[in-house]
Amino acid sequence: MFTSVAAMFIVVIIVAPLRRGVRPLRIWLVQTLGSVFLLLSLFATALNPSLGPLRYSDITYFSGYACLIVWLALLSRRVGGRADPTTFLDTAAVCSGAALAIWTVAVTPMLGGTQLPATLVWAVYPTVDALLLALAGHLAYRLGNPVPAMTWIIGSLVLLLLVDLVNSLVAISSATGEHAVVTGWYMFFFFGLAAAASHPSVPRLAHRPAPGERSTTGQRRTALIVLTISPVLVSTLVPVGGWIDTVVRVTLVTLLLGLLFLRLSVTMLALSKAESDSHYRATHDQLTGLLNRAEMFNELEQRLVNNAAAGRSTAVLFLDCDDFKYINDTWGHGAGDTLLRDIASRLPRRLGPEPLLARQGGDEFVVVCAVDGLAEAVALARLVRSFFDEPVRIMTNRTHTVTPSIGIALAEPGETVTAEALVGRADVAMYEAKTAGRGRYVVFDDDLARRSRMKSAVADRIGEALRQEAFSLVLQPIMAGADYATIIGWEALARWHDPDLGEVSPAEFIPLAEQHGFINELGEFVLRQACRELALLRELFRLSDVSMFVNVSPAQLLQPDFVDVVRRALESAGLPPDALWLEVTETLLVDKGPEVTTTLVTLREAGVHLCIDDFGTGYASLSRIMQLPVDCVKIDSFLVARVGEDTTAQRQLGAVIDLVRSLGIEHVVAEGVETSAQEAAVRQLGCPMIQGFLYGRPKTAQAMLAARGMVLDDLEDDPLPTGGVSGARRA
Ligand code: C2E
Ligand code: CA
Ligand code: CA
Repeated sequence: MFTSVAAMFIVVIIVAPLRRGVRPLRIWLVQTLGSVFLLLSLFATALNPSLGPLRYSDITYFSGYACLIVWLALLSRRVGGRADPTTFLDTAAVCSGAALAIWTVAVTPMLGGTQLPATLVWAVYPTVDALLLALAGHLAYRLGNPVPAMTWIIGSLVLLLLVDLVNSLVAISSATGEHAVVTGWYMFFFFGLAAAASHPSVPRLAHRPAPGERSTTGQRRTALIVLTISPVLVSTLVPVGGWIDTVVRVTLVTLLLGLLFLRLSVTMLALSKAESDSHYRATHDQLTGLLNRAEMFNELEQRLVNNAAAGRSTAVLFLDCDDFKYINDTWGHGAGDTLLRDIASRLPRRLGPEPLLARQGGDEFVVVCAVDGLAEAVALARLVRSFFDEPVRIMTNRTHTVTPSIGIALAEPGETVTAEALVGRADVAMYEAKTAGRGRYVVFDDDLARRSRMKSAVADRIGEALRQEAFSLVLQPIMAGADYATIIGWEALARWHDPDLGEVSPAEFIPLAEQHGFINELGEFVLRQACRELALLRELFRLSDVSMFVNVSPAQLLQPDFVDVVRRALESAGLPPDALWLEVTETLLVDKGPEVTTTLVTLREAGVHLCIDDFGTGYASLSRIMQLPVDCVKIDSFLVARVGEDTTAQRQLGAVIDLVRSLGIEHVVAEGVETSAQEAAVRQLGCPMIQGFLYGRPKTAQAMLAARGMVLDDLEDDPLPTGGVSGARRA
């Protein structure tokens, strides 16, 4: 009856996991084989022939156990990767402990008797059980969160260990073989394994846990202590019986202590390695292995002190790769990472061990070096830049040459400056280098310091200035006709007077307003004010067809309701749409999306004119320009500046004017005309319109009215007249 019930359970143990779809099969086939051996053992037990002290059933049982040991070891390796030495040491210690306990309790009394060989065979069972239990415990530890199938397995193995212990004691002492009552308990072992095998969680025995799901090492440690210390205690309680017993016990205890000692050393080693690993991770950048930002500041702080003590200066180079975003966007982040790693390995190879290298984040690197003055720092920057000349293989079939923009900041020995401030200065200088073009270096000096202070002051004040209406407009005439004598319109240029900062130039505040999100508000103010002033000037000067040219920033064109903003400005001033010319820079056309085109087309359809500003400075392709409804092109002053003195410049300007006209654009404005020589040259090249200081500096509307003998009481606050001249009176 025992045999048939146990056989039924074993069949479940074999079949159920396969039906639950466990993977990988090769591991589970080992378990299947082990179970087949157990099944065979049942029949062998029933027949029970023997080879001396070793019965057939012992052979099949040991084979079955061996398979289960391999199975658990394979699962454990699959779940936790390669076994670390602690697995081996723990298992060996638990087995030695079990062997010691069993030797002391079961074998010692038999020493000298005829039953010794059979006793030894019996003693193997609990020892192997202990080994299985140790392996199962290890697997459970690696699985982390409790898996019910695992709990069943461990429960079964604990039971097996107990039953085998009792069984071997009974068998040894009675010398009559197994006791039927005790044997019955094996059924519960098979039942437990069958429950594990048929539990839905059984496939999880081979699943790696998610990180952080590991259980604590506490249970593992407790189990290890109990399983190794208790056999030693037991062994001290039972009196020693002869020299063989002494030798075996001393050997086992020594082995156990040796294993525990090794275990301790391995743990300590792992601990100190983990500690140094985590320190490395906390101080180094993962991608490049260079120092990270935080550690760079710590190190730099230290070097500032040491270099100053040695009477040397500390140079900080702040590097930023030009067009890194382009690489990421075009070839993917993998290519970007490769590039960064390549740079990170190049720098220390060429610079040697002395300079401090760190990745500041993104595509930014910092180099810190002790130098004997600015010249040496600049030489270092040149050297660093030259490292970038060699192309980087960013993909198997593509190389790329990247240039760095470098900012240089120097701390003299006597100077007290924090690491953070010094890197901040180098950063400001780097930004300046980037603005000036690619692949340059800039030294942080007093002038840059002043400008950078100004910049942060401006950025701080801009929002308030808008609320307090500190912005105003000046108008610059645009001339046309024979001798360029006719004003056809004005360009509205924003002005900001700050009580503390004084006059702030638009070249300074427009980019900052763009960066800090004020450009839409500022742009709307400019549009409304420009329209009002044009309405007034048309009225007072009785010029019905002069126009207003207003600069528009890219961010404004991305604003979804920009078309309405323009419409409202025109309507509230009572102007027709064709009185307004919007100027957008050429660069805008290069990298903005289809929304911008849609907005421009809608405005154009509403009757507003469009102008390309600063033509000749950007990279817009002709095809892009031809796609847009452009009415006017303003040629940048840098193309006009040398005209009149230099024939090459004149030829270039001529070519540009011809090019624009060949696109069918009749309104071409030459900007920045300052001298009559330039004017004559521009006229000779057939440019129809002109603008520049030669025809007057930009002026406020009030100043223009005053020049004609008119006084305007309050241009800013008054709702502007659409039919009368109520805002102005003859002086
Ligand atoms: P821009 O649109 O190219 O404006 C022309 C700039 O050149 C103005 O400088 C003007 O005063 C200056 N200029 C005019 N004629 C001459 C000349 O003969 N010689 C020289 N050397 N300069 C001349 P400003 O007013 O400082 O404006 C600088 C830039 O700021 C403008 O360049 C424009 O891009 C931007 N800006 C000005 N007002 C606004 C605005 O309301 N909105 C936006 N988005 N940008 C504006
Ligand atoms: Ca302009
Ligand atoms: Ca311009």
